[in-house]
Amino acid sequence: METRNWIGGEWSTPGSGETQVRNPSAIGETVGTLRLSSGKEVLQAVEAARRVGRIWSKMTGAARGECLYRMALLLERSAESVAQLASSEMGKPIVEMRGEVARGVQLLRYYAAEGVRSDGDVIPSAQSNVLQYAKRFPLGVVALITPWNFPVAIPIWKLAPALICGNTVVWKPAEFASLTAAKLAELFADAGLPPGTINLVIGKGRLLGKALLEECGIDALSFTGSTATGLAIGAACAARNIKFQTEMGGKNAAVVLKDARVSTAVQAVLSGAYRSAGQKCTATSRIIVENAIYDEFVQELAAETLKLQVRHALDEKAYLGPVASEEQYRSVHAYAESARTDGKIIATAAAPDSGEGYYIAPLLVEGVGAEHALVREEIFGPIAVVQRAADIDEAIDLANRSVFGLSASVFTANLTNAFRFLEEMEAGMVRVNQETAGVEYQAPFGGMKGSSSHTREQGQSALDFYSALKTCSIQYG
Ligand code: ADP
Repeated sequence: METRNWIGGEWSTPGSGETQVRNPSAIGETVGTLRLSSGKEVLQAVEAARRVGRIWSKMTGAARGECLYRMALLLERSAESVAQLASSEMGKPIVEMRGEVARGVQLLRYYAAEGVRSDGDVIPSAQSNVLQYAKRFPLGVVALITPWNFPVAIPIWKLAPALICGNTVVWKPAEFASLTAAKLAELFADAGLPPGTINLVIGKGRLLGKALLEECGIDALSFTGSTATGLAIGAACAARNIKFQTEMGGKNAAVVLKDARVSTAVQAVLSGAYRSAGQKCTATSRIIVENAIYDEFVQELAAETLKLQVRHALDEKAYLGPVASEEQYRSVHAYAESARTDGKIIATAAAPDSGEGYYIAPLLVEGVGAEHALVREEIFGPIAVVQRAADIDEAIDLANRSVFGLSASVFTANLTNAFRFLEEMEAGMVRVNQETAGVEYQAPFGGMKGSSSHTREQGQSALDFYSALKTCSIQYG
């Protein structure tokens, strides 16, 4: 398998550099070849998208919806091979990866149905014989820049609403998820969309991002990735006054109060912190435990952490696999070292040798101060820090002490405490007795504070981003 560009309905092989993609679970094994574009392909892709936009935007919502239903069917039929490829490319355990592909199918069907749902509102006029309405119109050519950690679901949760709203798309996936992206494009090529409605350009973010933002007339951009890149992209979009959306980092807290059901909290915290090797922007990174239950909860969490199965991503028993790449390994390994020197390791689990793959043993850490990097920075790896809080006041205060505000959880059987947390938590997604990750596709997804540009993805909110409201008024008397 090798990466290819798909521009204006034509396949081409990018010619600027070639790397062998290593399987992060077994680095001796090659998954495919990554070929990169130089930048000029971005211009061609935007031109192709612009040309076909005249056709796609004029098709009925029902006809666009049919295309999305076909995309869903094609993905569903190839679900297992897509899941296997993605697991081999970026190391997400196969069981989770299957769930992610199924999520992609659901997202396509959800947005396909939007093609025949209301695309505006009638607003009573203060004048007689005037019909006034606000209707959604497409934005034009939308650029999608996607990360490697959800190589199927994130691209689809951008593509599907963008397309159903009548936009055409230029998609730049992350380097470490480009084989999966090429595979998705191959599937979608048979869905009957006019050639050029979706364009895929493979390459380095810095280079293609610059071309997209400075040399092409894109109309909007949706990005998911790191905070530093998101802020730079947001600033470039603002300078050109184009609509943008950036989903960036998180430092999500799970708060365990003294009346929590310990077994529920332990399993949810474990899953939030360690599934996908902690590489979710909604992963649980801080565990704040009320003093009265601290010892009991931490003891049980430690016992469960010890049992975690760290394995090759294609092993059905893997709870977590390796981290996605050498770059990720270096970054997370440095945090693990600092946890060992500056904190106390409460528990870890056996992991395969790092010479075999990019394996990092999961770590449960305590004893680092609120200002330590492990408590403040997004780690994006299987490391969770436990903090002690005297009571709910201190717990909420600690949980809110972050520049990020993506997701948060509280574990409690007390309704008053649950609602207090829901109201006072400065996060875009707040959950009670559930893990910080795992928000459903039909609900808005996004963060407060430094986590996002304050727009929302998924659910009906995505339609707001991918369209412009036009207020129309007709005097008919
Ligand atoms: P991560 O650490 O998750 O890889 P990045 O922000 O580096 O996060 O990457 C997320 C996406 O943004 C990828 O598709 C990447 O290629 C792209 N990207 C990286 N740098 C830039 C940039 N300067 N301009 C546009 N896109 C970029």
